[in-house]
Amino acid sequence: MKCDKCGADLNTGDSYEHAGQTLCEDCYLDVRAAPKTCDPWAVYTAKKEAGRNPSLTPVQERIMALIRENGPLTQEEICEALKISATDFRINFATLRHMELARAFRDGDVIRYTTFGE
Ligand SMILES: [Zn+2]
Repeated sequence: MKCDKCGADLNTGDSYEHAGQTLCEDCYLDVRAAPKTCDPWAVYTAKKEAGRNPSLTPVQERIMALIRENGPLTQEEICEALKISATDFRINFATLRHMELARAFRDGDVIRYTTFGE
């Protein structure tokens, strides 16, 4: 019997089963130590990051929070509430629109902004 990974001769009793392979002790420990398959801290960090929308800037997060709670709002209302310029709003909103987090729609004579799912 040989280790499926490194080819070392194995005595019965020295072999370890992992994911359908027969491994020597060294290879078995290598596989078990590999961080990607079982690393609670990495999984925890990834979940935390996903929940926080890490790709949004602070201004974009504030725009999202505002229209989520108070939307749909006009550009003037958003700029007034967040103390940002119309230019800043347009640049940041374009990113949110591109990420399909927010959208604009026509309401009579005005354009209002809301979350993408609304
Ligand atoms: Zn081995």
